[in-house]
Amino acid sequence: MKTAAFIFDVDGTLAETEEAHRQAFNATFAAAGLDWHWDAPLYGELLKVTGGKERIRAFLERAYPGVVMSDESIVGLHRQKTKAYGDIIVGGGVPLRPGVRELIQFAKLQGIKTAVATTTNLPNVDALCVAFWGEPAGAVFDVIAAGDEAPRKKPAPDIYTIALDRLGLEPKDCIAFEDSRNGLLSAKSAGLRVVVTPSQYSTGEDFTEADLCLPDLTGFDVAHFTRAPAEGLENP
Ligand SMILES: [Mg+2]
Repeated sequence: MKTAAFIFDVDGTLAETEEAHRQAFNATFAAAGLDWHWDAPLYGELLKVTGGKERIRAFLERAYPGVVMSDESIVGLHRQKTKAYGDIIVGGGVPLRPGVRELIQFAKLQGIKTAVATTTNLPNVDALCVAFWGEPAGAVFDVIAAGDEAPRKKPAPDIYTIALDRLGLEPKDCIAFEDSRNGLLSAKSAGLRVVVTPSQYSTGEDFTEADLCLPDLTGFDVAHFTRAPAEGLENP
């Protein structure tokens, strides 16, 4: 069985970005005159909600039930947060996770296509790629599926389905890389084989459905899937 593409989640999978996201949210709230502060335990809870705008909405409902904030206000806050996040990333505050750079290089050498399927938005992905590769996302990955392109965010399969359509490939020929349970369920629902590398905020989640679970990508060998296809998959 030949693997035709690797599809990567971004936050937590390519890099431990969640602390940068949390800092950017808090800086944005302070600049807007809001006395909201998301500490690490609260942010861990809020990460169960995928998508930044959705996360702000979920926080409001939880912390200030009955308080109404317009969609426009949330979109405005989120736009400021995206800018603050980009500044942190471009400043070089977050490294790639171990093995990521090497695996993407390996894919290019082997003719394996690369894609991202993420609920984070394109400016955030571009900021990361510029910081790590010196080029925007479109120059690093063959296909980008990001942010609000998917009507339903992870754990729905939509963003992976969009990435697969753009790759022009069947899910059985691709491998997804994820760090969270929501991401794992999303990729599995799209029919993909999934490698999970738990991150700072997702350690301890249930990854039972993963085809492979590793501490990081330094130990990943694509031959794992060539030698021993999971039950129910096509034989090589
Ligand atoms: Mg993730």
